[in-house]
Amino acid sequence: MAIYDLAVIGKGLVGSAAIRHLTVNCPELNVCVIGPDEPSNRKTHDGVFSSHYDQGRITRVLDPSPLWGNLARESIARYPLIESTSGLRFHHRVGCLRATDIPERVLEIDACAARFKPPHRRLDAAGCLERYPYLSFSDKFVAWDEQGEAGYINPRQLIEAQLKAAEAKGATVIREIVSGLAVKRDGVEITTRVGQRFQARKALLSAGGYSNTLLERKLDMPTKSHTILLAETPPDEIERLRRMPSIISSFDNPAVDSLYMLPPLPYPDGKTYIKLGPSGLDERYFDTTEDDRELIPWFQSDGSAVIAAKMKNALHRMVTDLKVISYQTAPCLITYSAHGNPYIDAIVEDRLYVTTAGNGYGAKSSDEIGRIGALLCATNEWHSDLERAEFRAIYADGGSK
Ligand SMILES: Cc1cc2nc3c(=O)[nH]c(=O)nc-3n(C[C@H](O)[C@H](O)[C@H](O)COP(=O)(O)OP(=O)(O)OC[C@H]3O[C@@H](n4cnc5c(N)ncnc54)[C@H](O)[C@@H]3O)c2cc1C
Repeated sequence: MAIYDLAVIGKGLVGSAAIRHLTVNCPELNVCVIGPDEPSNRKTHDGVFSSHYDQGRITRVLDPSPLWGNLARESIARYPLIESTSGLRFHHRVGCLRATDIPERVLEIDACAARFKPPHRRLDAAGCLERYPYLSFSDKFVAWDEQGEAGYINPRQLIEAQLKAAEAKGATVIREIVSGLAVKRDGVEITTRVGQRFQARKALLSAGGYSNTLLERKLDMPTKSHTILLAETPPDEIERLRRMPSIISSFDNPAVDSLYMLPPLPYPDGKTYIKLGPSGLDERYFDTTEDDRELIPWFQSDGSAVIAAKMKNALHRMVTDLKVISYQTAPCLITYSAHGNPYIDAIVEDRLYVTTAGNGYGAKSSDEIGRIGALLCATNEWHSDLERAEFRAIYADGGSK
């Protein structure tokens, strides 16, 4: 049986960041990461899925929460290093426009802008129209046009870059699904679906929405379906929208759907799509406490047709005279925590640790979340200026230790 000092379970955005940080900060450790590759056909796949099978995730510092702003800032600062060590490009600085007419949100984002001072301009509706003539906002809107490092990342490429950099420094990548995790007196025993067994002195669980399926005591981790709309964009529209930033909008009017949107991006099928998703529209919650049975039919489906129809309306309301060749929809999963921050904590002190619950914001900040989790697991110490208590694991039984 192969024996490691530390095993990371899940090679998604956070797990792949964690393994790279272990190779950089703890080079003396023999480390591995265990997790499957993206399925080649999600319609027939019946293994585990993830929240990163896509071409774009918005990245920006401006956020209503200072904690999330901080995690993003730390992560974004390391993107150039990850790109240069891996030789892979995943970061696209197209800017991020954050627009809202909700008074409390305006105050929160102004406070974040004053605190972190990312390069940005604060625009009213007229200023917004002047800069982005194809976007339509009502007079009551305030928009923060964040520039500098804001824009989007390609999550598939970021994971590949993290793993490439980690492997170059000696980490082992095991492309299998973990089916069993047993904490023993002297370490953790890990079994995979194909029957392999590994032993590690410690393990870090970073299995996203599947984390509870491997834990005895379940985390309070509502796991919600999320439908995305892909609008295939013709060449003349790609040209017209070539300076389009990533966009996050939140509306005061409950009849108008808030959404986030990425500019036209190339996808693996050779086509170019504007991708958008809803913020706050009700979808459905899954029971992931015992196993992943409810997730398989969801990921094999095309998501919710009702949500897709609402987003189609919202897209055409926001981007004026938009021409679209075709629409597609796809399913995804958002994993929440009880306090709205990621869980980064010890499950069994000195043995098993967890980093999970991106709350829909985890991609851009995954490098810092992975770093804090990796170092906590390796050293039993908290290596961040952020308060450890803000990241404590809260369990489904209401307890936190
Ligand atoms: C449609 C959509 C849009 C989003 N947009 C944004 C955005 O614009 N900006 C942003 O910052 N965030 C965004 N997010 C959130 C972000 O994608 C997630 O927070 C992020 O993916 C969480 O990273 P993770 O590593 O915790 O989970 P994941 O990325 O899901 O990775 C978990 C990994 O664990 C693996 N795994 C699961 N079970 C097992 C097992 N039993 N054994 C081994 N491995 C296992 C999976 O294969 C997967 O690779 C979005 C999410 C969705 C769904």
